[in-house]
Amino acid sequence: MSLDLPRMNRRSSLKGLAMGAAAAFAGWPCAEAASNGLPDKRGQDSMAVDVLVCGGGPAGIAAAMMAARQGCTTLLVERYGRLGGMAVQALVGPLMGRVQSAWVDRIVDRIGGRNVDYEFIDLAYAELLAEAGAEYLLHAPVLAPVCNGNRVTGVSLLTKQGAIDVAAKITVDATGDGDIAFAAGAAYDQGRAAGPSWDADGLCQPMSIMFRVSGVVHEETMEAHGGRRDYRFPDGRSWNEITRDAHANGELPPTVGFIRTYLSRREDQRVINATQVNGLDGTNARDLTKAEIDARRQVHAVVEFLRKRAPGFQSAYVSAMPAVIGVRETRRIRGLACLTLQDLVEGRGSEAAVVRGASYPVDIHNPAGIGQAIGFLPGNDPQVQPYDIPYGCLVPESVDGLLVAGRCISGSHEAMASYRVQVIAMATGIAAGTAAALAARAGMQPRAVDVNRVQDVVFDGKPA
Ligand SMILES: Cc1cc2nc3c(=O)[nH]c(=O)nc-3n(C[C@H](O)[C@H](O)[C@H](O)COP(=O)(O)OP(=O)(O)OC[C@H]3O[C@@H](n4cnc5c(N)ncnc54)[C@H](O)[C@@H]3O)c2cc1C
Repeated sequence: MSLDLPRMNRRSSLKGLAMGAAAAFAGWPCAEAASNGLPDKRGQDSMAVDVLVCGGGPAGIAAAMMAARQGCTTLLVERYGRLGGMAVQALVGPLMGRVQSAWVDRIVDRIGGRNVDYEFIDLAYAELLAEAGAEYLLHAPVLAPVCNGNRVTGVSLLTKQGAIDVAAKITVDATGDGDIAFAAGAAYDQGRAAGPSWDADGLCQPMSIMFRVSGVVHEETMEAHGGRRDYRFPDGRSWNEITRDAHANGELPPTVGFIRTYLSRREDQRVINATQVNGLDGTNARDLTKAEIDARRQVHAVVEFLRKRAPGFQSAYVSAMPAVIGVRETRRIRGLACLTLQDLVEGRGSEAAVVRGASYPVDIHNPAGIGQAIGFLPGNDPQVQPYDIPYGCLVPESVDGLLVAGRCISGSHEAMASYRVQVIAMATGIAAGTAAALAARAGMQPRAVDVNRVQDVVFDGKPA
């Protein structure tokens, strides 16, 4: 069987992939044995696009939408079966953070607001992509980038039908973990350098299993009586004090000291953000395996505690567990610029801004204990002023053909703790998709793109 298939035409649609020649997939040793005389539907496919976006989270969706809107053939590839990233995979929500961006406002409006509709947000995202003219492929994890020297020229996808090679003029890495940049050899940082109360230990923020409970009697809850922060129990304690004391008494697992109960779209439901696993690496398969099991085990104790202590939760039960654990922090790809804590505290503007007015606290879940990192406690944390994100944070320092978007852009551990939230991630995607389209059309590298032209599109809505 020939493995030497012709490349698909640049304008070929994904539908063409399904009709690809039925060649056996090179690399899977049992490919021959599985044929059984039936038509062999596996095959090594390939295609070529102007802009390839890897990762279907808020950053990737925004990037693909913008690239397609600039008239580029655009393909978004996502490793799992749903669009939406952490929101659909890990039950993360609501959408937090602020930016000055009409594009972001439009997306948030289209997906029904900040209070995530966990059941259908993926379909709303799919409609957005279809309207923009971007194609997407689910169940298509990137196995490896294809490189020519230090330039990414596409990727190889690992799919159930075999490998699919996608050639791209420009690739956007919106995988959250910076998988494409990492595999292409880009310089990156991971974990924390020395801070106000810690050494440079390289620890990342903890991972968490968020989950949903149903059977809550809303009228009795803290949210219905002033809110979780202001609610006081008969002995005068706040909810945070109740959980802190329970942690000290050993009533809660050793890493659970705060239990956040988020309103859901239904009054009788809450999404719970409480479990925590420290000291593990979200890019290491063994660590991820341990984290999944350890954090899921904590859920029982948290629910039992909620039933006993949280008003309105007496009959609460777990009604949804996430598909995967929530990963807050991994690689930050070193870019031509790097956002720092000082930039956020000063609310620093930039002439090269591609995101303006970004705003969210430096929310560092403690990598080495419970709650927030010491030095970043509520009331004592550095106050963030609305800040700009310069284009250089999206352009890898050492790799061409590639832009990054979302939580893997260039910044410090502290700055990332602010810009990692979904609304700001989306805004970086808007900028990356626009710049990718400009670079692809002009046949230039992202580092050579005129920032003014990106700004015209992302801030002024001008056609590129
Ligand atoms: C426990 C937890 C609670 C949080 N709480 C909030 C909150 O309340 N509000 C808020 O706004 N933010 C919250 N965040 C932060 C936020 O969810 C993420 O930082 C945000 O989703 C980042 O967006 P992104 O597009 O960069 O990455 P992601 O949302 O992670 O999306 C990346 C996408 O890329 C895909 N992908 C990864 N690798 C590959 C690959 N090799 N090939 C193909 N596809 C790949 C993934 O499957 C995923 O769909 C929380 C995060 C966690 C972990």
